[in-house]
Amino acid sequence: MSRVLLIGWDGADWRILDPMIEQGALPNLKSLIDRGTRSVLRSTIPTHSWAAWPSFLTGVDPADHGVYDILETVPGTHKQYPVTYRSIKERTFVEDLSAAGKSGVYADVPLLFPAPAIKGDIVAGGVLPKGRPYTHPEDLPETLEKAGVPWEINGMSWTTYRNKPDAYLEEALRISGKRIKATEWMMDNTDWDFLMSVWVSVDRTQHCLSNYVGPDHPDYAKLSKTPRYQKVVDVYRQLDDSIGRMVARTNDDDIVIFMSDHGFQSCSRAVNMDQLLRKLGYLEFSASNMLYGPMQWGPMRTVARKIYDVLGLHGKVSLKQAVNWQKTKAYTSIRSTGEGVSINLAGRDPDGIVDPADFEKVRNEVMERLVSFVDPDTGQKPVKAIFRREEVFKGKHADTAPDILMEPAEQYSLTHAKSAVEKADWLAGDHRPEGVIAVSGPRVQPFAEPPMLIDLAPTILAALDAPASIEHTGRVLNEVVGADATTRAGEAIGTARTEDAGPTVSTDEAEEMEEHLRGLGYLE
Ligand SMILES: [Zn+2]
Repeated sequence: MSRVLLIGWDGADWRILDPMIEQGALPNLKSLIDRGTRSVLRSTIPTHSWAAWPSFLTGVDPADHGVYDILETVPGTHKQYPVTYRSIKERTFVEDLSAAGKSGVYADVPLLFPAPAIKGDIVAGGVLPKGRPYTHPEDLPETLEKAGVPWEINGMSWTTYRNKPDAYLEEALRISGKRIKATEWMMDNTDWDFLMSVWVSVDRTQHCLSNYVGPDHPDYAKLSKTPRYQKVVDVYRQLDDSIGRMVARTNDDDIVIFMSDHGFQSCSRAVNMDQLLRKLGYLEFSASNMLYGPMQWGPMRTVARKIYDVLGLHGKVSLKQAVNWQKTKAYTSIRSTGEGVSINLAGRDPDGIVDPADFEKVRNEVMERLVSFVDPDTGQKPVKAIFRREEVFKGKHADTAPDILMEPAEQYSLTHAKSAVEKADWLAGDHRPEGVIAVSGPRVQPFAEPPMLIDLAPTILAALDAPASIEHTGRVLNEVVGADATTRAGEAIGTARTEDAGPTVSTDEAEEMEEHLRGLGYLE
């Protein structure tokens, strides 16, 4: 039977990769495409890793797994915690493969903390609290250390390298280099049926340096001819080399999948959604924020972060955006990307002030104001499209989704700004739904229908003939696994995933993780 090797490049986009392929910088990716097929892979709404990877893991949309943002709110409070594996309210293919007796190896896969006990090895990725086990088995870090291939968690906090691209690139190459060695060691020393590794340096690099590699960035024509361009491409070359070595460890019967969780678009302008809501008269900050606000951004912030790093205080100090809920009608409810806004509804939100009878009226008004808002410096509208919650989300956890969803216009990020709208500062790219997929294998055919991120879980289960415990929204990609392959329904089908309520991490750990999330630009 075929095994499956899956290589994920977080945030990879053909618009950025194609020029590199043409220049011969990514020969191993090119030969994978030449042996198989490629396509755009449609991501989720909202379009960011924290909603997308759970959709990859479950084969269902965010409305069915319940993860919309990097933070989740404790019901009935304003307290928020970073999302973890336990936030995913649906069974994942990771557990289904294990239940079928298949051995899985997962390296740096976001949202796998705390790692479930499966047949195989997990090194959780994403943002991790220090000092907590992040692997399965728990002693895997010691095993890797003894083998001379130590793992390093977190890192690549691109916002902390403001205007220091070379120092950032050095860290990206160094950490990815270590993880490549460890992953290849696991590949050699595990009897795997499914092996997947995710590389986050692509996403981090594109957030701050898309002006070098994103052909849709206004500075690309100039910057792509500078010596630093080659240094940025080195991030991709390093990962392409690893594709070569990993594919060399497979045989002709194996399926190789290269994919991303979302694509990327360049941006030269940025919005702060809470500040925009304030400007439009729907949100007020509390008085303490007037003092704190200016400290949250700019050089002060950078200096503060460095000091915290040096003193090992990372995460001990969190500068929060304090909203005056008594005077707020609408607030940002997808804080990581600004793509979601909710109404401060009485009876639902703690301190809600909008009467449920006025909900539709207020929501319509907020939507109208947001979508028609014009950036005074460019004459452009930052919001390209706007949707009501029920137009986008139909699943069983739709009730916890944001009331309003937005898509950013070209050249705009809906986050990463300190004022309502401004020139992007040390920010050159943000997410878009059009990700990538390339596959090779004995039965691979060109895609007849456009593939989607939620198709991968059922496809992986079908490839390995493992029963599914849930009904996937995605389809089996028969273009990858052969015309006859299907997923079999396992015994557990239809039973929802039950998890103990309450946060996975302590308040201190949450603050530590949040500080790291700020470094990654996911929080303000
Ligand atoms: Zn990202």
